[in-house]
Amino acid sequence: MFGRSRRNLACWFTLTMGSILIMFAAVVYYLKVIDELESLDRLLYKKTRVMAANVESTLHNRQQHIDLENVPLLGSRVPPPLDSELVYARWYNAQKQLVQFFGDTPSELLKVKAGFKTLNSENHQAWLRQVTLPVYQNGLLIGYLQVAIPLTTTENNLADFRLVLAISVPTTLGLITLAGWWLGGLAMQPIRYSYEQLQRFTADASHELRSPLAAVISNAQFGSISSCSNPEQQRQRFQKVVDIAKSMSLLVDNLLFLARHEGRLPAKLLQEVNLNNLLLKLVDDYAKQPVAQHLSLNCELPTNSVNVIAEKDLLSQAIINLLSNACKYTPAGGKVQLKIFTQPHQAIIQVVDNGIGIPEPDLHHIFERFYRVDKKRSRKTGGFGLGLAIAQQIVQAHGGVIRAFSVVGQGSTFEIILPLNK
Ligand code: ADP
Repeated sequence: MFGRSRRNLACWFTLTMGSILIMFAAVVYYLKVIDELESLDRLLYKKTRVMAANVESTLHNRQQHIDLENVPLLGSRVPPPLDSELVYARWYNAQKQLVQFFGDTPSELLKVKAGFKTLNSENHQAWLRQVTLPVYQNGLLIGYLQVAIPLTTTENNLADFRLVLAISVPTTLGLITLAGWWLGGLAMQPIRYSYEQLQRFTADASHELRSPLAAVISNAQFGSISSCSNPEQQRQRFQKVVDIAKSMSLLVDNLLFLARHEGRLPAKLLQEVNLNNLLLKLVDDYAKQPVAQHLSLNCELPTNSVNVIAEKDLLSQAIINLLSNACKYTPAGGKVQLKIFTQPHQAIIQVVDNGIGIPEPDLHHIFERFYRVDKKRSRKTGGFGLGLAIAQQIVQAHGGVIRAFSVVGQGSTFEIILPLNK
């Protein structure tokens, strides 16, 4: 599934970027053609202007002796000048009649309009660029000069440029394909990670529900057998069903909690919470619980009040989860303490116990959903391995951090760090 999505992403990326690249190459080539033609036209125009100036001065000299209308030698061929670049040059009078020329024999009458033109010369078997320029003397039209040069250099330059494009465009397309494949992989990574998480979560949740469900079925079946003569045994079976159903309901609540409280909390749910008061109340309430009866449970609070911006019930839930673990995993006679510290911008809530501790390799996993260090012991104490995952999710929803330190046999310290509200 992920391989196909990655291929699709890479394909779409290559198609999009490839189309942009080809369009870009076409525009660049078009601009290059225009640029080459413009520079050729400038050269052609310069040459034509020089020739026009010569014609003007020749006619000017002649005018001093004869009438312009009677210029002789209409249509006469003259030898080409030393500028071998020109294919032909033609001089037409103001009536568009051919006066003089060199190169190909033209028609007697000028038929094209003034300006630049590209044409295919059959005589020379080549493309030519031709300019037809009206020539004025003292503001009076005296004739037209038509000059052409071959397009060979321009064609060669464009052929070189096409070769560069023919090499660079496919190479870039290849690089784009590789980049698309790499980016596709990169884009799929978080999706693959989330998918794997979800799959593991579903598998874990199903696994957690399967054993109690099996127990419910077997107890209910046993209890419902009409031949069962012992009513006390039957009552115990049904009581077990009720207990298991309660524990399953707790598990479902926890799962729903995890599903609902993903991401940061909206600001409208947050309020200023006095941590001193909150912790005192939690310790007071929790000290009455049976699990805390055999322990010394106390609070170490600063004299000044410490305030944070939080959703009070959720924050209480996170602290209770830590407190409940500390009590669960500390043997009778042990000590559990709740402390508050402040740093310039942070409030730190600590839950410290001198219980069984957590082995170093497990410390990296205890915040994962369904993770339990000692599966058998946790199952006995009723833990699903969701308490710390919930606490972490709550703390992160407040923009805080939760972390744990522990030494096996000496105890554990859990820390919630929240932004301080001064
Ligand atoms: P559980 O419901 O099993 O307690 P948690 O997510 O709260 O699940 O904790 C995950 C695991 O981390 C527990 O199974 C336990 O092994 C370990 N743990 C958590 N808190 C403590 C603690 N204070 N002392 C020792 N082990 C702890």
